[in-house]
Amino acid sequence: MFEMKKLPFALNALEPYMSQKTLEFHYGKHYKAYLDKLNELIAGKAYEKMSLPEIIVESRKHSEDRAIYNNAGQVWNHEFFWQSLSAAGAVMPSPEVMQKITNTFGTYEQFKELFKAKAVGQFGSGWCWAVEKDDKIEIVATANADNPIALELGKPLVCIDVWEHAYYLDYQNRRPDFVSTWFDHLIKW
Ligand code: MN
Repeated sequence: MFEMKKLPFALNALEPYMSQKTLEFHYGKHYKAYLDKLNELIAGKAYEKMSLPEIIVESRKHSEDRAIYNNAGQVWNHEFFWQSLSAAGAVMPSPEVMQKITNTFGTYEQFKELFKAKAVGQFGSGWCWAVEKDDKIEIVATANADNPIALELGKPLVCIDVWEHAYYLDYQNRRPDFVSTWFDHLIKW
């Protein structure tokens, strides 16, 4: 039985960049619904004894467990996203990670532009991640409930949710503004 992870900040702590109303729905309704559904779907099954990453990896192998995969992925992704949000202004990467970013992308600013392009370019619902792979930082986008641990794309460092429910109340169709604002004010490496 999985339980909701506490948000590391108050629901209104991210205003004006992310409203209390958005978090009431996103955390209190969307995230909760994925978690409730997952608990319902795994009840009485072997999955009940597994960790969330184990459920994601295992359920992906079985087409009949697609709903379990989707809900487990969405629970894990949201918990990673809550940890990728700062209520005290943007939290920059560690010096080690920053060095790897500049090794590959030249500047942090250049990295930001490519990250934004990837996040904005994700067609439909999904996520955008910075991952570490083979000692390099890469930017990857995943659709729906997919994530870097399921697809073996590297170790996730930070992510943004680009499902419409993540930003529609505050930004409507302006996903680029949402991604930019997150990067400049809310990101937490
Ligand atoms: Mn979401």
